[in-house]
Amino acid sequence: MISLKKYLDSNQAVLEEDGDDVLSAAMAAYSAVLGEIGECGLSACPALGDGLKRRLASLRAGLSAQINREKLAATDETVRAELRGWGTRASEHYQQKAHEVKELLLVMARTAESVGERDQRCAGQLNEVTNRLQEIASLDDLSQIRRSIERSAVELKNSIDRMASEGKAALEQLRAQVSTYQARLEHAEEVAARDALTGVRSRLSVENLIEARMCAGGKFCVAIVDIDGFKKVNDDYGHIAGDELLKQFAAELRSVCHSSDVIGRWGGDEFIILFNRDLAEAVAQRDRLQKWVCGNYTVHFGTGTVKIGVDASIGLAEYVPGEQLRDLFARADAAMYEHKAASRAGSNGFRR
Ligand code: GH3
Ligand code: MG
Repeated sequence: MISLKKYLDSNQAVLEEDGDDVLSAAMAAYSAVLGEIGECGLSACPALGDGLKRRLASLRAGLSAQINREKLAATDETVRAELRGWGTRASEHYQQKAHEVKELLLVMARTAESVGERDQRCAGQLNEVTNRLQEIASLDDLSQIRRSIERSAVELKNSIDRMASEGKAALEQLRAQVSTYQARLEHAEEVAARDALTGVRSRLSVENLIEARMCAGGKFCVAIVDIDGFKKVNDDYGHIAGDELLKQFAAELRSVCHSSDVIGRWGGDEFIILFNRDLAEAVAQRDRLQKWVCGNYTVHFGTGTVKIGVDASIGLAEYVPGEQLRDLFARADAAMYEHKAASRAGSNGFRR
């Protein structure tokens, strides 16, 4: 530490010999040295240097005034205290800055890492930033560290902004794609579940529903409905007229059934109905249905129309808990043929 007092005390003989001239010269030199210290302090620690410089300027102004040995001692102590204080503040400043720098590095590295994990596609961009952050950690010069951090922060922010906007666009695209696929899937499922000609459920769809109903428990019945002599319709009026009759017949089935009943096309001129009710109620519904769907239908034929009288045979079977789907169908089918045979024999032929 520079001490003018010590210097003067050790050179007492010179001072006594030359008096004021030596003191003035020493004061000027001392003031110049303090000025240099201020400049060095400013560049070494910009954050503290301004204050130090101001205080040293005021000390130098005091030194240039008329000074005696008593005043010199006090000034000397003030300068020494000022320099010690500067050292302490500079050290604290650097420690605090070093801590802040480390924290900042960690936060930025963690952000880059977590964002990078979230979006592998942008990992390349972020790698550069994280590499630079790691390099910064090994630098000693704080102003260099600050510049690098500022640059890295800007790059990191740009990368994250880019990723956020890309991510948002990708998400919106994904949402749109998902809803398109969902709509397509629902449409495909709907189409697959429907019989193309009549619009009632497909055989597979009804079988699935009946199997699900078996698992759910409770009473239910299955009816198989077969148009009598349908082959002759095709033969007499052609398949287009036959198709039209099948469509109208299916529409009548739909209009007579309850919303809780399920109607499907078994194949050809055969339909299957799931009655969500016990046998007594299903029998009543079957009789109502028989009356409703049988009768005259008007279909297009040639340039005009033709009336076709329709009869149908219906077989009913109540589900016996534990039985297989095919056994339930077989019993309903057998009942339908029994009905058909009885009809041909002249009675309505319905049996439970
Ligand atoms: P049954 O009284 O014993 O029921 O005899 P049926 O004349 O009704 O004839 P059957 O049930 O044995 O055969 C049904 C016919 O339906 C056979 C087939 O040519 C015809 N068919 C099957 N699918 C279609 C179709 O999609 N459209 C038309 N127009 N005819 C069909
Ligand atoms: Mg038939």
